[in-house]
Amino acid sequence: MPTPETSKPPGESSALRLRVLLPLPLAGAYDYRADPELGLKPGDFVDVPLGRRRAIGVVWDPEKKAGEPVAEAKLRDVIGRRAVPPLPAEMRRFIDWVSAYTLSPPGAVLRMAMSVPEAFDLPRPVLACRLSEAAPHPDTTDPGELRLTAARRRVLRELGTGPPRPLAELALAAAVGPGVVRGLVDMGWIEMVEVAKPRALWPDGAQKGPDLSAEQRAAAEALVGRLGQGFSVTLVDGVTGSGKTEVYFEAIAANIRAGKQSLVLLPEIALGAQWLSRFEQRFGAPPAVWHSEISLAQRRRTWREVAEGTLPVIVGARSALFLPFAKLGLIVVDEEHEAAFKQEDGVIYHARDMAVVRARHAAVPAVLVSATPSLETVINVERGRYTSVHLADRHAGASLPEIQTIDLRKAPPPRNTFLSPKLREAVAETLARGEQAMLFLNRRGYAPLTLCRTCGHRLNCPACTAWLVEHRRTGKLQCHHCGYTAPVPRACPSCGDDDSFVPCGPGVERVAEEAVALFPQARTAIVTSDTMTGPRAAEDFLSRMAGSEIDLLVGTQIVAKGHHFPRLTLVGVVDADLGLAGGDLRAAERTYQLLHQVAGRAGRAERPGRALLQTYMPEHPVMQALVALSRAPEARDRFLQTEAEERRRHGWPPFGRLAAIVVAGPDVAVVDRVARDLGRSAPSGNGIETLGPAPAPLSILRGRHRRRLLVKASREANLQAAIDSWLSGIRVPSNVRLQVDIDPYSFL
Ligand code: ADP
Ligand code: ZN
Repeated sequence: MPTPETSKPPGESSALRLRVLLPLPLAGAYDYRADPELGLKPGDFVDVPLGRRRAIGVVWDPEKKAGEPVAEAKLRDVIGRRAVPPLPAEMRRFIDWVSAYTLSPPGAVLRMAMSVPEAFDLPRPVLACRLSEAAPHPDTTDPGELRLTAARRRVLRELGTGPPRPLAELALAAAVGPGVVRGLVDMGWIEMVEVAKPRALWPDGAQKGPDLSAEQRAAAEALVGRLGQGFSVTLVDGVTGSGKTEVYFEAIAANIRAGKQSLVLLPEIALGAQWLSRFEQRFGAPPAVWHSEISLAQRRRTWREVAEGTLPVIVGARSALFLPFAKLGLIVVDEEHEAAFKQEDGVIYHARDMAVVRARHAAVPAVLVSATPSLETVINVERGRYTSVHLADRHAGASLPEIQTIDLRKAPPPRNTFLSPKLREAVAETLARGEQAMLFLNRRGYAPLTLCRTCGHRLNCPACTAWLVEHRRTGKLQCHHCGYTAPVPRACPSCGDDDSFVPCGPGVERVAEEAVALFPQARTAIVTSDTMTGPRAAEDFLSRMAGSEIDLLVGTQIVAKGHHFPRLTLVGVVDADLGLAGGDLRAAERTYQLLHQVAGRAGRAERPGRALLQTYMPEHPVMQALVALSRAPEARDRFLQTEAEERRRHGWPPFGRLAAIVVAGPDVAVVDRVARDLGRSAPSGNGIETLGPAPAPLSILRGRHRRRLLVKASREANLQAAIDSWLSGIRVPSNVRLQVDIDPYSFL
């Protein structure tokens, strides 16, 4: 490990000068002076003065080529070191790397690794009660002066010669108030002692998993074989229901046995209830979870145990990637194609890509898992940078669902309804057989647009260029971009006509309304992010599905992924064309992935499944590929090849690189001026070109005007360097925000 720079100007004190990175969006680390007695090394967490405050930072490594050093006289002293394990060198390199790649200040990246400031305080000691030497025997006869009441005797008896017990627990067991126990402490009969915090039950790597099929075993062995062998990336590419989870569980088990930590990233961990219960069954104890909804006490404890290297398995959302693992041995990214892995604000990064980078810095294997891998990953396999293992069969011989299109031009739904006769019939048949059906529409609320019948006025968000969506469940209008809500007005704000609003187009609530009218005897449930608000709601829903309390499910993408519903045999996609509109370069790929995943919910057990796609474009390559799927699984790869050709021709990712610059601010004239300045000095040549500025499709968001520029570069060009030098030459007023998004996935 490198030692901190020891710049000792002649004749000066023997204090060390070192760099401390603070978890703040500053340009870089700050210099401080430290007493050599402290023995500080890079990675140590330290308290330092910052202005009139005090901050916790990390001793950073000396700079390779230092700039002008801060004058000795201006240096302030490090206050002291925190009693937590130092941030490992591989983590410091990772933070520097992410900072350089995303063009974010290093301190902003460090902040993600130090997200629980409370974890730096010493854990509060746990105190427990123990009988002291002075305590009388509980059965001692007491003529009076001992004041041995019945309650006190019970406490003494309860405590006996057993191990120390927490006060509250003891009082409960002895059926006395806590005051009785405290009285005994005051009398010196009971003493309080510090005890070690109870050790949690850890996942057990030696516990046996299910018997794997030959195909699954080969895949598992390939993953296990990469453990301890340095950096590698392996794609587990297997059809929905093929047992990919069971396969990577084997690698986790082996990693636990090797005494190493495993990190599993899931796209929507708050909803991973089914995953968690499977894990617990397989390993005899739950993993530690990491996402925005866990309690502070849990975060604090988890952070420390990750840093101490004691926690064997963490499952989390993208932010778990920045936990300071002491003994990382494996990273798994499940559903690696998911857009939810892209963090869209603050430090903008793609957790799947950064997981690979993290694995490289830690010299451990990364495992990417999907039934519909992203084109980026598929091309990396083709280029030989990643290897892949395949699972071609569904577990226990279940077959892939039969996918068919319903041509809405030929057999449209009756006026003002959204389910075509064919789909209605299929639902009726499924319900009659006592099986479950799902209607899928990726649109929350009742209707995406509400307008006045009299004057045509549309209800818009006051803060965004977006329509308000009516939600009948809550009786409100909602902006899906900024969260604005308002009651539905009685009269049109434009023409004043009463009750003149009509809904246009369907949302899930409207589809459910139609379904209930058509199938009144079926038990129908709507599931969206509005109803599935957390782990508890998710668990509740899953148990109702498993217990056959739901016959007909109407849902958005939230139910489309990962879940295993053995009795679900029909999936009806209400609007298969929905994701294809708009100019997003990944529209076709994403639509394919989503519909493939949704269809994959059907027929995962003994009974065969069927998926029906309502579309106006049955000839579209996405629909064609899906229809071919059940007969010819290679249809997926053919579709990806066509997509790849298209992207290669235009130099889009992964054959070229992109960065999006968004200029936003409340004053449209200022925003336009900054955008024009940027446009004039934009990088061009040497494999780089810049498009724009142009108004963003969401040209006003939360009251801020937005302009976009898109930088397109060849894979060889140094995109970051070009952007860095470009932006450093632009003066940005304080009421304008410049956001840089490397490898953008959102073009709104
Ligand atoms: P995938 O992640 O590929 O969609 P899963 O791992 O969820 O597939 O497996 C689908 C279902 O089959 C799950 O209920 C899983 O427990 C079960 N399963 C898969 N492989 C086995 C096996 N070898 N033995 C028993 N059950 C299995
Ligand atoms: Zn809005």
